[in-house]
Amino acid sequence: MSASSARPAPRPGILDISAYVPGKSEAPGVTKVYKLSSNETPLGPSPKAVAAYRALADHLEAYPDGGSSRLRQAIAQRYGLDPARIVCGSGSDEILSLLASAYIAPGDEGIFTTHGFLVYRINILGAGGTPVVAEEKNFTADVDAILAKVTPRTKIVFLANPNNPTGTYVPFEEVKRLHAALPPHVLLVIDSAYAEYVTRNDYSAGLELAAQYDNVVMTRTFSKIYGLAALRIGWCYGPAHVCDALNRIRGPFNVNAAAIEAGVAAMEDAAHVEKSIAHNTKWLAWLTQEIAKLGLEVVPSVGNFVLIRFPKTPGGTAADADGFLTGRGLVLRAVGAYGLPDCLRMTVGTEEANRLVVNALAEFVSMREKQRA
Ligand SMILES: *Cc1c(COP(=O)(O)O)cnc(C)c1O
Repeated sequence: MSASSARPAPRPGILDISAYVPGKSEAPGVTKVYKLSSNETPLGPSPKAVAAYRALADHLEAYPDGGSSRLRQAIAQRYGLDPARIVCGSGSDEILSLLASAYIAPGDEGIFTTHGFLVYRINILGAGGTPVVAEEKNFTADVDAILAKVTPRTKIVFLANPNNPTGTYVPFEEVKRLHAALPPHVLLVIDSAYAEYVTRNDYSAGLELAAQYDNVVMTRTFSKIYGLAALRIGWCYGPAHVCDALNRIRGPFNVNAAAIEAGVAAMEDAAHVEKSIAHNTKWLAWLTQEIAKLGLEVVPSVGNFVLIRFPKTPGGTAADADGFLTGRGLVLRAVGAYGLPDCLRMTVGTEEANRLVVNALAEFVSMREKQRA
């Protein structure tokens, strides 16, 4: 037996995973960079959360509370939930991964949609399962297409609502219809990472379903509107039996102490969240309108980002635009890995950043038109 075949081998599926590539944060040669590639909030976290984080520096020798009790309590109070049915994680990414490990065995299937969040595929493969993709309609998850993919092997359906990177959402009536038609052994995971930003009255983050049914879990994050992505805090609400499973396999101290403190303070600062919603609502509408005026298609978004489609004509493609914008320090997200090679995703930024992008795109578009004339 050769030395190479004798080495430890990961289990089947692991090497089929394409590692997640985060959004760029640099523009080589440019001093002032506007990072609009990771859906981070331009308003930053609540100053109260920052103060709570700093205060923890005096107690770094102590293990955190392994059950994140105060954080679960703060979340429960804010949303009127049973704290025993909340599990906190190191980002909602960890929760999503724990759900896949707990419910998917080799040979099982997990469903997500064409342009669904990449982490789902990674987690399903990581658990030894088979990723199953349901076609979207108009860049939006389609309930009938998801249901058509359900088999006796299906264990999980991951639905990002709204979805990243498309920004589209499934109205609550449709989510309820999806749940009602799923077999009871299939876990419906509703990833509501951008829920706070949504201002549509036919939308729900899914708490009602997670509260009522044995096969629905809703996940949330402190990385987006709360501006605490660096600290990695996520949580889920679900039936007690699901929380029990997650609590058995999670790390005993999976949320660090600074994250717990900052998370509690952030959850209590409702005014900061309101301010962030107001900023986003205003500039999301402005960006959607101004970019469309340039003749570029913008997928209607309810999140804190927009998906911009570029033509396939040489010189005017998404890759060309990415290079042009990056050269000006405007860093957007290329989304080829999501099956969207002709698109760039832009996070709603500060007023300054938003105006710079629209001006730069206007220049890009007119330059392209002159070249073609
Ligand atoms: C950003 C994002 C998350 C949050 O990830 P964290 O691990 O909590 O930072 C989850 N789901 C989607 C769809 C996201 O875009």
